[in-house]
Amino acid sequence: MIPPAHHSPRLLSLVIPCYNEEAVVSETVKRLKSFAADLKNIDIEFIFIDDGSRDQTRAILKSFAVSDTRIKIISFARNFGQQVAMTAGLDASRGDAVVLIDADLQDPPEVIHEMIKKWEEGYDVIYGTRTERPGESVFKLATARLFYRLLNKLSSVPIPLDTGDFRLMSLPVVDVLRAMPERDRFIRGMVSWVGFKQIALPYKRAQRFAGETKYPLKKMITFAFDGILSFSSKPLELSLILGMGITAVSSLGILGIAAQRFFAGDWVSLELIVLVAVGLLGGLQLLCLGILGQYIGRIYNEIKNRPLYIIQEHQGFGGRSPIYSRSPVVMEKQP
Ligand code: UDP
Ligand code: MG
Repeated sequence: MIPPAHHSPRLLSLVIPCYNEEAVVSETVKRLKSFAADLKNIDIEFIFIDDGSRDQTRAILKSFAVSDTRIKIISFARNFGQQVAMTAGLDASRGDAVVLIDADLQDPPEVIHEMIKKWEEGYDVIYGTRTERPGESVFKLATARLFYRLLNKLSSVPIPLDTGDFRLMSLPVVDVLRAMPERDRFIRGMVSWVGFKQIALPYKRAQRFAGETKYPLKKMITFAFDGILSFSSKPLELSLILGMGITAVSSLGILGIAAQRFFAGDWVSLELIVLVAVGLLGGLQLLCLGILGQYIGRIYNEIKNRPLYIIQEHQGFGGRSPIYSRSPVVMEKQP
């Protein structure tokens, strides 16, 4: 996908989700602008998604957009989450390639130069893998490690380890993503699923420039569930196997008790038997029902077919809708 040299300059879209990032966002704009100044023969657009921030993020972004037409802003009506925010950015992007990058400068913009080089070599997805992650808690590192290994055991598509959303994607990949309407979005997995020519680019993840993480434990757990449940139906198999195993063991137990009564002539304490059996079976049934319920809940969520996000206002799109594609799935309220 390398256009000939005489082609008009290619357009690179940067998609930056922001949620209550007033502490960093000015610095982010500055860093991204100076990154863009170093680009040769590539035009750039910055698509900031204000994911329902309740602080000054939106106002700060707007003030930058006034003097720079490359800056475009999509403001959600409420917080929809990072994955949905990035989706809106993908929907609105017009670039020949799109880069997803966090607003907190943990992903150094300078790494994008190397991504572009790989893109020019013909790769369609260049994803950053983190060689170092300073400033993250031991707990976050350990759970992240565990999660990605578990996910890969369960998932039918391999999903690269230690990889976030920081990546460059060529237009064909972006087009496929735009056509994927699922609600519980785990974008890094979706990109793996798409295929094409993908390559890892190791980089040192920086510390958050300012502010604090927008991923409290609860959000992290939801995200982990989205990853596993969207990319694997193994938990369903697991509950089946568990059920079969327990049935087999209980059957043997009953045979054992019967044998003891028959040959030795006495009973094991009846209360104990009942207590153990009821507890075990009750617990297992709830567990399997719970797993089933998770999938059914997701099906329910899909069939409601609500808009994936709601845009309250937008700026920098020249009066046009920022939604380039995906009309059936999103709804837009004009300001
Ligand atoms: N983010 C968002 N919506 C959310 C949570 C986070 O748009 O509901 C953005 C956030 O502003 C940041 C990126 O997603 O640009 C990654 O979030 P964060 O840095 O808090 O995550 P961490 O790096 O701690 O995993
Ligand atoms: Mg961060």
